[in-house]
Amino acid sequence: MSLTPEDIERHKRHILLKEIGGPGVQKLRAAQVSIIGAGALGGPCALYLAAAGVGGIEIWDDDRVDRSNLQRQIQFGEADVGHLKSEVLAARIAAIDPSIRVAPRARRFGEGDEPTGTILIDASDNFPTRYALNALAHCTGRAMVHGAAAGWTGQVSVFASGLDADAPCYRCWVPETPPDAEACDEVGVVGAVTGMTGSAMALEAVKLITGAGTPLIGRILLLSGLSGEARTVKLRRDPDCPDCGKY
Ligand SMILES: [Zn+2]
Repeated sequence: MSLTPEDIERHKRHILLKEIGGPGVQKLRAAQVSIIGAGALGGPCALYLAAAGVGGIEIWDDDRVDRSNLQRQIQFGEADVGHLKSEVLAARIAAIDPSIRVAPRARRFGEGDEPTGTILIDASDNFPTRYALNALAHCTGRAMVHGAAAGWTGQVSVFASGLDADAPCYRCWVPETPPDAEACDEVGVVGAVTGMTGSAMALEAVKLITGAGTPLIGRILLLSGLSGEARTVKLRRDPDCPDCGKY
């Protein structure tokens, strides 16, 4: 995909980076991602991917904007309350770059659904959705960028078990729903921490698409807003994993 003069003007700051450059911007223009969840993580992730010129962005979310979302979901405003998140976010993406093919899916992603992205982004807030997406990513050989945030902490990783025989999947790390798993609306979270986490997810997707740097495959990035510290922890593939162990 050749770049137009408008593309070159718009993406100059990426073209200047040797790890991205013109070829990287072309890869971003040709890429297709599916973002599962249009909330506190999916919002900033989608906006940064749109600004980076990712050519196709699919947004899966069945929820509507609630006033209590506005403390952290900065892609929405007061006038959006009551509207479908997927459609409002799609309109924001189109406002950033009208050339992006954006597809809002106003439904909850689940088993049997077929997102079109070659990269799947888990910005969901519940374990059934995350496990269904993880299984699909593994079986179809796609990378899944995962992020989660609660309280003052965020976590980001890339699961690529269907692409690399040594790479773990999400269930190698969390095989079953933790007993203390709480719904997102029952725990507090600092808005800026969800922004850091969603931005880090977008960054991982940009790295996967362009080939820049080292993606967080087999590692999890832990961000602590309270201490101002970040660290990475290694994850191993589990031969007895319910999703990737039998292959
Ligand atoms: Zn696994």
